[in-house]
Amino acid sequence: QSQELSHVRIDYHAALLALQEQGTRMVCTGKMHTDRICRFDYLCYCSEAEEFIFFHSNASVMLPNLGPRRFQPALLDLSSVEDHNTQYFNFLELPAAALKYMPKPVFVPDVTLILNRFNADNLMHIFHDDLLPIFYTMQQYTDLDDEARLVFMEGWGEGSHFDLYRLLSSKQPLLKEHLRNFGKLMCFTKSYVGLSKMTTWYQYGFVQPQGPKANILVSGNEIRQFASFIMDRLNITTKERPEGDDYIVVFSRTSNRLILNEAELLLSLAQEYKMRTVTVSLEEQTFASIVQLISAASMLVSMHGAQLITSMFLPRGAAVIELFPYAVNPEQYTPYKTLASLPGMDLQYIAWRNTIEENSVAYPDRPWDQGGITHLEKEEQERILASKEVQRHLCCRNPEWLFRIYQDTIVNIPSFLEVLRDGLKIKPNLKKSKPVSVVHPGRVRHPKCQTSVQAAHEAKLSVSWQIPWNLKYLKVREVKYEVWIQEQGENTYMPYILPQQNYTFSENIKPFTTYLVWVRCIFNKNLLGPFADVLICKT
Ligand code: UDP
Repeated sequence: QSQELSHVRIDYHAALLALQEQGTRMVCTGKMHTDRICRFDYLCYCSEAEEFIFFHSNASVMLPNLGPRRFQPALLDLSSVEDHNTQYFNFLELPAAALKYMPKPVFVPDVTLILNRFNADNLMHIFHDDLLPIFYTMQQYTDLDDEARLVFMEGWGEGSHFDLYRLLSSKQPLLKEHLRNFGKLMCFTKSYVGLSKMTTWYQYGFVQPQGPKANILVSGNEIRQFASFIMDRLNITTKERPEGDDYIVVFSRTSNRLILNEAELLLSLAQEYKMRTVTVSLEEQTFASIVQLISAASMLVSMHGAQLITSMFLPRGAAVIELFPYAVNPEQYTPYKTLASLPGMDLQYIAWRNTIEENSVAYPDRPWDQGGITHLEKEEQERILASKEVQRHLCCRNPEWLFRIYQDTIVNIPSFLEVLRDGLKIKPNLKKSKPVSVVHPGRVRHPKCQTSVQAAHEAKLSVSWQIPWNLKYLKVREVKYEVWIQEQGENTYMPYILPQQNYTFSENIKPFTTYLVWVRCIFNKNLLGPFADVLICKT
C-alpha cells in the first residue's frame, strides 16, 4: 500500500529555508511528563538513528526548557498509560547548521499526531488506551482535524483492528516501520506529541494491583459521544425497534475462556426474560455488525475479556453481565464494571463468578501466556491448583492469575439466574431510559443570617437565601438546600437538608456565640452546587 504523504504540494525550498533559519520550535502543556502534550514546528525524525531531532537555531523555542531534567525520566509519555518506562518520548538535539551535512529532509505537510499505541492486539486496550485518547486529544487541538495524520511510534505492525484507527482521520495512519520509506530524515511541519489521559478510567497494575484510576475525569457523556462518532464512521444507524422486539447478546470467545454450556445459557436467558438471544464473536462477525447488534440490545452477557469494551455501544438502560472463571474475584478486575458505572453511562452492571471447581476446565499444559503452569516448580503448581482464589497481584505475568483466567467454564444456570434476579433492580428497559440532567445548581444568592437571644441559655439563628440564578431556567424534579452550621473554633459542623429558602435554628444554638454558616443548593439528590460565601453570625 502506498504511504503517500499529501497531494498538496509544499514549497520545498521555503520549508528547507524555514527549518535552517528557524530550527525546531516546541511549546508544551503540562507540568509533569505524565500530563504533557507538546506542539512542534519542524520536529524531525531520523529513521537511521530511530530518533526524533530538535534543531537549535537562534529562533528555536523549547518550552518547558528542562535542561537535563528532560531525561528524568523523560519529556513526556508517548502512550496514554501513565509513566510506563517503555513509553517515554524524548528527542536528540543538533544545531541547525548540521543540516548541511545531513540527508535532504522530506517534509510532512499534514498536521501530525505522534503517539504510541499500548497494545494494538487487544480490543479493550485499543479503545481505552488509544482510540478514546486520540479522539479527545484531536478535539483539544483544532488543527488536528479530519485531515490530520496519525503516526504510531511503538514499533509494531498494524495489529488486529487497524481499521478502527483508520476511522479517526481521513489519512492513512503511519507506523514506525513506514517512516524509513520516506528517507533518512523527515520533518513534520506541524506536529503534536503525546496523548490526553483525561478519558482513561483504568490502571493495569504496573505499580499497584489493577483497578479504577484514582481520579476519573471522564463521564458517560464523553464515552457515548465517542461511541456515536465511531458508529457514524462505521455507517451504523440505530433504528427504532418495534415494541417487544428486545433481545440479549451473548458475546462469546471461541479460542479460550469458553462458556462450555452456551446453548443452555442462551435458553435460560430467553426463558427468564422472554427475549430472543443472539451470539456474536470477533471470529465470526465483523466488528461493525457486532456494534450494530449491541447498540440496540437490552443485555450483553460475556466472559471477562477485552470484547466487553463493546458495552460502551449499549443503549442507556441496558445491562452488562460479566462472567468470571473459578477462583477469580470479580471485585479485583473491574475495567468493564468501572466503564458501566461511569456517571451518565446509565448501564446496569452485574458480575457472576463460578464457585464450583468441577465446572471449570483448566489448561496447565498450555504456554505460560495462555495460562499454562507446567513450566513452574512442582510445589508452585500444587499451590496454584489448591488455591481457591487468586490473591491481588501486579501486572502482567502472574502465572496463577493467567492459569485461572484462561479456564473454560460451565455456567451453573440456577446460580447465574439467582445473581441476575438479585442484581437487576429493574428489568433492563431501554424505552424509559432518557439521559438524566447533569446541570449543577449555581450558588444560592443573597444569603443572610439574623440572630436573637431568648434567655440565658436560649438563642435563635435565622438563615435565608434566594434560589440560584440558573434555577429559573430549569425544570428540576427536586430542589433542596444544605446548610452547615459550625461554631467558630470547633472542628465539627451540623449539616441540615431543607426544602425551603429560610429556616430558624434554635436547637444547639447558644447565646453570645459566633457561628459560621454555609449554604448550597442540591438538585435531584446528587447534583451539588457550590457553597455561597460563608456567613458569620453572632448571637
Ligand atoms: N479474543 C477473541 N476470542 C478469543 C480470545 C480472545 O476474540 O477466543 C480477543 C479478545 O477479545 C482480545 C484479544 O483477542 O481483543 C486478546 O485476548 P486476551 O485473552 O489476550 O485478552 P483479554 O480478553 O483477557 O483482555
